[in-house]
Amino acid sequence: MNPFTYARACDPADAVRLGAAPRAAYLGGGTNLVDLMRRNVAAPATLVDVTGLPAAIEERPDGGLLIGAAARNTAVAEHRAVRERYPLLARAILAGGSAQIRNMATVAGNILQRTRCPYFYDVAGSRCNRREPGQGCDAIDGHNRDHAILGASPACVATHPSDMCVALAAADAVVHLRGGRGTRTLPLTELHRLPGDHPEIETELEHGELITAVELPPLPPGAASGYRKVRDRASYAFALVSVAAVLRVERGVITAVRLALGGVAPKPWRARTAEQALLGAPADPGTFRAAARAELAAAVPLRHNAFKIELAERTITAVLADLAGEAR
Ligand SMILES: Cc1cc2nc3c(=O)[nH]c(=O)nc-3n(C[C@H](O)[C@H](O)[C@H](O)COP(=O)(O)OP(=O)(O)OC[C@H]3O[C@@H](n4cnc5c(N)ncnc54)[C@H](O)[C@@H]3O)c2cc1C
Ligand code: SF4
Repeated sequence: MNPFTYARACDPADAVRLGAAPRAAYLGGGTNLVDLMRRNVAAPATLVDVTGLPAAIEERPDGGLLIGAAARNTAVAEHRAVRERYPLLARAILAGGSAQIRNMATVAGNILQRTRCPYFYDVAGSRCNRREPGQGCDAIDGHNRDHAILGASPACVATHPSDMCVALAAADAVVHLRGGRGTRTLPLTELHRLPGDHPEIETELEHGELITAVELPPLPPGAASGYRKVRDRASYAFALVSVAAVLRVERGVITAVRLALGGVAPKPWRARTAEQALLGAPADPGTFRAAARAELAAAVPLRHNAFKIELAERTITAVLADLAGEAR
């Protein structure tokens, strides 16, 4: 591990001032960043500890929530308003990591965790464009069972690993940011970038920009929501495919829908093509399957992960069928 200095921010302005230093990085629970430092994938010169910044979960008068970026994943999943109003978010968080990791992990850290592509972590032995631009990508012709089928590029086929982000994408969450040039907001779906020719640029954040909170607008009234994760083991494994959905059905017709996928793309994948096919259509298995197929028509499988196409189709169809039963 490289030497670094440590500073604890006492408020967001202090964090932004400290985070502006060259090669500074914010430290949440450290469950991803410290691993990356140990393996020499990341080598920040300064760690700015942001765990003392706002972590409250504030209920908004419109029924939405404002979640402080330093809130621990466990606190969010256990919060009464999250469980009642955003079951998809509570379930997604509880599907991730282990209880110990969720106790440490923060909301902002979860959003900005790096890919789990094994070649990315293998500094000594593998080529990786995300770690070192122009080096090449050993996953493309390598062991790519866990990699992306949507939104990838010839430069990088990694997936985004977060469960929580998939639920946030389906919930239309908005991320609050603070940087040297002031504050701004971004929809969660626009925060992460697709790899294109520059997989090393993973988000729209500027250097030193701090996530201060995540805002959840109310879900459509009368909608049901859920999250399903398919993985190799029942716990402690990243998603092969995951689905977060919000669905409202009135007199047999879909009147509101939001759908997002995990484990299949380099960012939390909002399934807009499927949503278009679903809205206004009868809520039946044929509609659900056709919408899933429409979304997955753009899928480009690698040598070892073509199974994800059918797995995603089946998971989307099953989740929507479950929610339609609940939403009737
Ligand atoms: C064994 C293991 C299994 C796991 N399984 C899963 C799983 O199944 N599903 C899943 O979703 N996740 C899983 N994870 C990942 C885990 O959820 C993440 O490591 C965790 O959410 C990161 O949160 P953190 O607060 O520890 O972030 P850190 O490691 O502290 O930071 C992560 C990144 O966020 C940045 N950051 C932190 N706070 C801020 C801020 N306020 N503003 C701007 N940048 C910030 C840091 O600089 C760093 O780049 C697993 C992790 C481990 C170790
Ligand atoms: S898939 Fe992306 S992260 Fe993995 S080795 Fe290739 S460039 Fe690196």
